[in-house]
Amino acid sequence: MTGNIKDYDGTDQGVLAPEERVGYAVVGLGDLTEEELYPAFAHSARSRLGALVSGDRDKALVQARQLGLSEGDVYSYEQFENLKDREDIRAVFIVLPNSLHREFAVRAAEIGKHVLCEKPLSVSVADAEAMVLACKVAGVLLMTAYRIQYTPHHQAAREELHSGRLGRVKLMTAVDVQTEPQGGQWRLKRELAGGGSLLDVGLYCLNTSRFLTGEEPYEVFAYTHSTPDDPRFTEVEESVSFTLRFPSGIISSNFCSYGASKHRSLRVLAEKGNLLLDPAFDYTSLRLKIDTETEVRELLIKETDQFALELDHFSACVQSGTRPFTPGEEGVQDQRIMEAIYQSAREGRPVQLQRFEGRDVFRGGPAAPVERKRS
Ligand code: NAD
Repeated sequence: MTGNIKDYDGTDQGVLAPEERVGYAVVGLGDLTEEELYPAFAHSARSRLGALVSGDRDKALVQARQLGLSEGDVYSYEQFENLKDREDIRAVFIVLPNSLHREFAVRAAEIGKHVLCEKPLSVSVADAEAMVLACKVAGVLLMTAYRIQYTPHHQAAREELHSGRLGRVKLMTAVDVQTEPQGGQWRLKRELAGGGSLLDVGLYCLNTSRFLTGEEPYEVFAYTHSTPDDPRFTEVEESVSFTLRFPSGIISSNFCSYGASKHRSLRVLAEKGNLLLDPAFDYTSLRLKIDTETEVRELLIKETDQFALELDHFSACVQSGTRPFTPGEEGVQDQRIMEAIYQSAREGRPVQLQRFEGRDVFRGGPAAPVERKRS
């Protein structure tokens, strides 16, 4: 096994002074915000946390104190529009249950704030399209927070596949399973989550297949299953198996579940070798291996805060007025495919999607507008 270190981590990005950074209000102070996003702001180079929006004022005040923010930086959901007067806040990061994304994206756009929205963009194509439209009309940027498309491991995997060194890709197979939905139990309520394991974890398999191929699937075929006597799955599905067909002939076979012991991997089988990301979707400790007839190689890539990379990408876009690499349209397309996946499972037949030719048809400019050093 050989290794080579690629420094994709953005550590040479110019670290801006606090007053030069893009100021954010975070809406929704749950697990992701507390455990990942607060540290990500601390690790970022261009992004600054300036306000908290929450339905729980006491919790928000405690967190604000810990973060060095003042009482005046805490807003209730009803006070959200008061952010309009905060010139230091240029963007809103929506980290709420899925069905609330639309409301806050539209409200943010209406007060002239750029919108970074957690995945899934929303719970339906209609809601997601409304978010894109509201941001367009208001002249603000909308980015779907797809951290995977900003991580060095996935960028390196995509480069490897697009270089042609492994020849034509035949199959991608991705798995994202865990025994419980993580975070709030809203994930088991259809009205808030919009669906089960597909919208929560299956989306990583779907979105990463699209990112790695750069192509859009034209057909899906799917099965869903929920253990009949498991009370968790009365409103949303437990497991989904779905297959995507891409124009170049690549088949992508995927499985997601809330009912199996944690496993998150992605394998690509190609003419001259294969590529394995395992784990593929975790926040840390990703590993990328490339296996050909002549060598087994692990790419040693420096660990980086994935959320800080994503945040700084959006901040760079806000500062330069550039369309994000994963704009709202990228989230809408996944929503279309997920609706087709559910339709296929319901009807027991393949479902056709609109055909798109070319690469990255829904994505904006390069994933890393800020130059990164590579060795
Ligand atoms: P969570 O349950 O931990 O937090 C949700 C927050 O929303 C809580 O603070 C809760 O008080 C608030 N909230 C407001 N209205 C609510 C309502 N009606 N019901 C329930 N909660 C309500 O969830 P989370 O894990 O932080 O997820 C939030 C969003 O982030 C989701 O869209 C999720 O898909 C996304 N997410 C993304 C990643 C990623 O890796 N990008 C990881 C986890 C979660």
